[in-house]
Amino acid sequence: MIKEFRTEKEKHKYFHSLSDAQKMEAFREIITQSACVVFLGGAGVSTESGIPDFRSKNGLYRKTDRRFRRYQPEYLLSSNCLWGETKLFFEYYRANLDARLVQPNAAHYALAQMESEGWLKGVITQNIDGLHQKAGSMNVQEIHGTTLRNHCVSCLKEYGADFVFDSPDPIPKCPACGRMVRPDVTLYGETLPSPAYDNALDLVNRADCLIIGGTSLEVGSAAQLAHIFHGKYMIIINKGKTRLTGRADLVFRESIGKVLSELVK
Ligand code: ZN
Repeated sequence: MIKEFRTEKEKHKYFHSLSDAQKMEAFREIITQSACVVFLGGAGVSTESGIPDFRSKNGLYRKTDRRFRRYQPEYLLSSNCLWGETKLFFEYYRANLDARLVQPNAAHYALAQMESEGWLKGVITQNIDGLHQKAGSMNVQEIHGTTLRNHCVSCLKEYGADFVFDSPDPIPKCPACGRMVRPDVTLYGETLPSPAYDNALDLVNRADCLIIGGTSLEVGSAAQLAHIFHGKYMIIINKGKTRLTGRADLVFRESIGKVLSELVK
C-alpha cells in the first residue's frame, strides 16, 4: 500500500526513488485507491494509431504537400481560412484530417477497459479523431471538437463525417438551406465548444488522480486544465519532457500504449 505522506516533498522523494517495476506497481495502487481518476490526453495518444501530430519531426505540417506549403499551418486550420478562402480550407481539411479509417491503438483500448471496469471516470481529449469512442470509451470530452460531426452554419442541421469528406462539391453545402456545412472542430481563432470544456473542467475539479498522456502541456487548453488540477496524484506518460514533470508524482517517459496496456494487464 502507498503510505500517507506528511508533506508534498516527502511524497515527491518517495515516488522519485522507485524503480521502473515499482513505479508500475505504485501506479496500480494509486488507481485502485483513488475515487475519481480522469485521463487528459493530447496528440501523442493518436500518433500511435498513425495520426500525425502537428509539429514534430513526422508531424502533419512537414508532410503537407507542395500546394499548401506557402501557408502558415495554423492559417489552414483557422476560422480566417474557413471564411476567407473556403475552398482552400476544405481542400486541406479533406486531404489531412480524414480519420474515418484509422483504428484505435492500445492506449485507447486500455482507457476504454479502465472505464468499463469502473477505474476511470472520463477522458478529456484534444484530439478530433473520435478514436476513444471507437475503442469503446463512453465519457469522452472532446475539447477541440471532432471531425466526425459537422453542422450547417445557417440552419445548424447536423451531418456525419462522410458528408464533408465525400462531398462532390469543393465546399460542402447543406441540402436543406444551401449554406456551408462545416466541421464541429474548434479552429484557430475560435473559442472552445463550451459544453465539452465545461464538462472537462468539472471532471478535473472532481478528480483526485489525473493521468496526463501524449502532450507536452506547452500551450492551450490541456495545459490550462492540468494547472487547475488540485487532486492528490498526477501521473504523466509522455515520451518527451512536459511542463509539469516536476509537479507529477509518477512520470513514464515511454509509449503511452505500452504503459497503459501494462497497467490494465
Ligand atoms: Zn442548412
